Amino acid sequence: MAKRIEVSGLHAYYGGTHAIEDISMTIEPRSVTAFIGPSGCGKSTFLRTLNRMHEVIPGARVEGKVMLDDEDLYDSSVDPVAVRRVVGMVFQRPNPFPTMSIYDNVAAGLKLNGVRGKRRLDEIVEESLRGANLWNEVKDRLGKPGAGLSGGQQQRLCIARAIAVQPQVLLMDEPCSALDPISTLAIEDLIGKLKSQYTIVIVTHNMQQAARVSDRTAFFNIAGTGKPGKLIEIDDTS
Ligand code: ADP
Ligand code: ADP
Repeated sequence: MAKRIEVSGLHAYYGGTHAIEDISMTIEPRSVTAFIGPSGCGKSTFLRTLNRMHEVIPGARVEGKVMLDDEDLYDSSVDPVAVRRVVGMVFQRPNPFPTMSIYDNVAAGLKLNGVRGKRRLDEIVEESLRGANLWNEVKDRLGKPGAGLSGGQQQRLCIARAIAVQPQVLLMDEPCSALDPISTLAIEDLIGKLKSQYTIVIVTHNMQQAARVSDRTAFFNIAGTGKPGKLIEIDDTS
């Protein structure tokens, strides 16, 4: 299921602002690559070019190529909505649907994807919550709202929701920076486990975290105010 990502000559713009410049790199399947760099260097922008979220901002555009195995994400025949389905994303602030039950938070995307039948849904919901190391904590309260969980549990719920639809790539934008240290360790453990099944790209501003969770760390830099972010170095960290 996991796919290789091959980025070549990638630039991203917000209107006249050149946000990232000329990124080329390959990200292997079943690996974790961390992106690190100063605030404003384009890390989030880069992530959003990988699932075609960048272009939803008015005036924003992308140049260059992103291949998922042999599929060009920016080919004119490709439906951006379909891309967002196979390239899952987890955000800095856990964002479960707050009033929706824990069960429905995971099941909603499955229903949209055409999964039918309560038994089949139950099965995938359980499998996804187990996959996100959350099942034992929520199995007796699946009908309760997602907002009732702790921050760390909410983030794992968001990961369960993302993996339920069987993505090929998981993007994580500072997934721990709103969490306490214990919840952070739980997410880092989980990333280590998910690596065997997905291609994982994580943005973090924490060097220690990059070293702990990733096989490779890619460093972004900005030359100065108003200059685009550039990839300056990629190190093996495993
Ligand atoms: P990082 O994630 O590394 O903090 P971002 O990708 O958020 O950096 O931002 C990269 C650059 O793009 C910054 O100069 C930022 O101000 C600009 N930028 C980010 N989002 C927008 C937006 N919605 N509209 C215009 N400029 C933006
Ligand atoms: P509450 O948390 O309000 O007591 P329940 O946990 O009993 O509610 O059930 C809420 C939802 O979760 C229902 O849709 C139910 O079918 C589903 N559900 C409950 N237990 C399981 C289970 N073991 N496996 C899959 N789905 C379940």
